[in-house]
Amino acid sequence: PPTILWFRRDLRLADQAALVAAAASGPVIPVYILDDETPRHRAMGGASRWWLHHSLARLDESLRARGSRLILRRGKCEDELAKIAGESGAGAVHCLRHYEPWWRNAERAVAKRLDLICHDGNYLAPPGSVKTGSGGLYKIYTPFWRALRDHMPPPVPVDAPEGLDAPDRWPASDRLDDWKLLPSRPNWATGFEGEWTPGETGAQVRLGAFAEIAARYDEQRNLPAIEGSSRLSPHLHFGEISPAAIWHAVADAGGSVDVFLAEIGWRDYAQTVILQYPDYGGRSAREAFDTALPWRSGKEADADFAAWQQGRTGYPIVDAGMRQLWATGWMHNRVRMIAASFLIKHLLIDWRRGEQWFWDTLVDADYASNAVNWQWVAGSGVDSNMFPRIMAPLTQSEKFDAAAYIRQWVPELADIGEPAIHDPDEFGRRPRSYPPKIIGHREARARALAAYDVMKADD
Ligand code: FAD
Repeated sequence: PPTILWFRRDLRLADQAALVAAAASGPVIPVYILDDETPRHRAMGGASRWWLHHSLARLDESLRARGSRLILRRGKCEDELAKIAGESGAGAVHCLRHYEPWWRNAERAVAKRLDLICHDGNYLAPPGSVKTGSGGLYKIYTPFWRALRDHMPPPVPVDAPEGLDAPDRWPASDRLDDWKLLPSRPNWATGFEGEWTPGETGAQVRLGAFAEIAARYDEQRNLPAIEGSSRLSPHLHFGEISPAAIWHAVADAGGSVDVFLAEIGWRDYAQTVILQYPDYGGRSAREAFDTALPWRSGKEADADFAAWQQGRTGYPIVDAGMRQLWATGWMHNRVRMIAASFLIKHLLIDWRRGEQWFWDTLVDADYASNAVNWQWVAGSGVDSNMFPRIMAPLTQSEKFDAAAYIRQWVPELADIGEPAIHDPDEFGRRPRSYPPKIIGHREARARALAAYDVMKADD
């Protein structure tokens, strides 16, 4: 009988353990199920859907080049898999393991009805396998990374098979276009097209380009005006490339490539955190942040939140980042930290609102990485206590040389030189088309620290 290969966030043929195992047992039925019921409010956001559409189209092409095809179904994954098994007489289902709490539940539900075989391969080491001396899981990144390094290098990646056996009869498939994953009117994704090539080949091209500059990663990664980082995050999120393949491609680059590998380690770390705290995306690990911190809410806060979303806060570095996010579905890491910190501390708005906006707008939106980074900036998480450390966005902008980045994303300021471009209000250079600062830095800082004291007094 044929075997079902169930794709989720692992849309690749190379270094795909589930594919290798399925192919070894005869004909394969590759399946992708669009399932919005299982994750419920964590269904994919708009930017992710744009990516998914293109990635599935590329995956189907690669499968067809190997004599196979991708079967598309929509519905609850365990029901659809059971139906496909019934229609095709398939025996087993192979998949890569995923760690979002809803996927772990779904894997259990599928295993009750079908012979489900899960494989590893989307992380440097299987999440949960890196243990402390006493056998528990790590909560803090640095010791986690030290322990993970002892498991490295990851296994050498395996190539995609040249051909796949087809079943005698293909089960019915939806048409990708009918899923309407792409925006129609307005088409907010026009800027995505020039920026990204979803799919396995696009991921390989990115990796090839990054390998050239990997040795200089540490010098360049914090400068938003430069392409100093890999931009592999959406490819990694959708599993179009395995972290092991990245590791083996760059590990010998020399220079500061270890700093880059440690960032890939952050991705593994985030999974270890959500294994221990499945609600991490919706609940602060330090409970007082949800119950006692006087976050702002109401009309005025809503207006401030909208200004942040639209990149109209009067802080050029924040606005440039938020506009880059809207236009391309991605934001530079340094600017993500600044923009997140600005929302949480300068605007005193609950980090969870920012997390949700990122969830909807990032092409690399990832439950674990997004939640772990938001809680890290807020200081509400298991690791840092960052809340009282209030970043000065204007100082950061100067320090990381963001002038060219601001000129690109905030064209109202394109004619302003340095240093005024970092703080046009302060230098009396603000054009009328650009808003004044939504709140002054010192005032915002005092307000945030006062709110923090209220929380501590209550704690
Ligand atoms: P590189 O610098 O080239 O790093 C290589 C890879 O390592 C990345 O592709 C990514 O997979 C991983 N990585 C790097 N930094 C981190 C990190 N801090 N945490 C976890 N993984 C990391 N990253 C996501 O993939 N999805 C998210 O939803 C996400 N949300 C974030 C929210 C906030 C508030 C912040 C501050 C950061 C967030 N990040 C998220 C982490 C980081 O900003 C992005 O991974 C990075 O900017 C992607 O660009 P790159 O591929 O060029 O990264």
